[in-house]
Amino acid sequence: MKTGPHPQLVPSDYGQVRLPGLGSVINGQLRSNGPEFTCENPANGQTICVLSSATEGDVHDAILAARSAFEGAWGLMSPGKRQKILSKLARLIEDHLDELALLESTENGIPLMVVRNFSVAALAKNIAYYASWIDKLHGSVVPLTTKDALDYVVTEPFGVVGVVTAYNTPSLFLGSKVGPALAAGNCVVIKPSPYASLPALRFAELVSEAGLPDGAVNVVLGGAEVGSQLAGHSLVDLLSFTGSGRAGRQVSELAAANLTPVALELGGKSPDIVFEDADIAKASTSACLGAFALSGQACVAGSRLLVHRSIKDQLIESLVKFTESLPVGNPQDPGTVIGPLISASHRDWVESIISRSVDEGAQIVCGATRPNGNLSNGYYLYPGVISNVRQVQDIYRQEVFGPVITVSTFESENEAVVMGNDTNYGLGAGIWTRDIGRAHRVASRLRAGSVWINSYGVVPHVAPFGGYKDSGSAREGGIWGLMTYLQHKNIYVDLK
Ligand code: NAD
Repeated sequence: MKTGPHPQLVPSDYGQVRLPGLGSVINGQLRSNGPEFTCENPANGQTICVLSSATEGDVHDAILAARSAFEGAWGLMSPGKRQKILSKLARLIEDHLDELALLESTENGIPLMVVRNFSVAALAKNIAYYASWIDKLHGSVVPLTTKDALDYVVTEPFGVVGVVTAYNTPSLFLGSKVGPALAAGNCVVIKPSPYASLPALRFAELVSEAGLPDGAVNVVLGGAEVGSQLAGHSLVDLLSFTGSGRAGRQVSELAAANLTPVALELGGKSPDIVFEDADIAKASTSACLGAFALSGQACVAGSRLLVHRSIKDQLIESLVKFTESLPVGNPQDPGTVIGPLISASHRDWVESIISRSVDEGAQIVCGATRPNGNLSNGYYLYPGVISNVRQVQDIYRQEVFGPVITVSTFESENEAVVMGNDTNYGLGAGIWTRDIGRAHRVASRLRAGSVWINSYGVVPHVAPFGGYKDSGSAREGGIWGLMTYLQHKNIYVDLK
């Protein structure tokens, strides 16, 4: 791949960030013809670099490049060679974990250690994991009632997969979407969030170094307009989308015009339910991390804490103590747990929903203010605990995607389940109890794709992850994630 003027180094407080080639990557070539946009460090508001959006022509060319790689070099490659190349890609990613983490953390403000151990680690794990599936994917023979015919089923790739992703864990999405898509034999056009373009560009360089043919992985930069050109293109065979419900609905409408199937991973408003017999210290610590991880910008954030009335005061006291101890600061500082929000406008929005809830009677127990001093140039907000929240309030019902947890109380197991399910979303749910029967009863009644019992937010890369209701339609992770990128073909043979 042509990589442009290298190396470009941008200083960060904890090291030099080496920038990848800056432009869309189409058929292995950099392109930067379209309107410019600024890539900004949310920790200090400074410009990291200037990128250019893909034009409509670029999007079209990227899709044609993917199609030609699918019909040629990648699609016709033997599975064994495909497996070798993807395994090499996984090793290259392992060799560049620190660099990838610094790049991602500098652009989206998520603390370096979290990016290193979660998002980028998941990229490496998923590429290796899905590469390992290539020689284990067998079809099946369908038993018939006659001896005069043979019926068998094989799995096949879709072709060109459009991949549109959110800003919070961009490397993880490359692993959980592009990993299985490529292992299945598809070619991809990735449209990363304009707030997290750099990991996809560096990934494209590693893809090229690993030996994937040009056109197998293309990256088009830009915002909603570029995403909608990809979603609405008639030559895209499958669209894989991670983002908000609002954008998910829009891409689904565009894809529907071509009857393009869409795999959706959307938002959440997940309940974390604490019963009176729970280990309160463990539950409150985990609830904090479950709500404030990624500065609250996590799809599975346990943003609605539902507590049995009898332990409310005790739980809040423990919650506040832990919340106030969380280190807020420069994302590249190894000790930081809470970094900035992604943008000034997003922080304004989070603050507006908090202040509206207070006007309506809710109470801020701690946090939810901006830091002063040397963090004031970044888009920081101290993690906040909000109580006296009513179920009709926006802060209880809408995804805030910021460091805010609401506390509400219940009196009975049934009420806890009803309150837990009282949301349009269905991504995750936590249950804290020492009563094993109750744990399983409640888990089976909660309408969510992931339920955690006496833990919160753990997502093993080998397990299925995805949403019920408005939280999405697809599954990522494990064999379920691979099946998202495969279709089944039935072959019937007359033996007479
Ligand atoms: P977003 O919906 O604003 O953007 C997501 C992506 O869609 C970006 O690449 C954006 O440029 C693109 N986009 C936006 N509008 C579009 C349109 N009309 N047509 C085509 N493309 C469009 O989301 P975000 O702010 O980047 O991320 C936050 C959201 O993502 C939250 O709702 C969060 O819960 C969700 N999310 C879900 C998961 C999951 O696995 N379920 C994971 C992470 C984030």
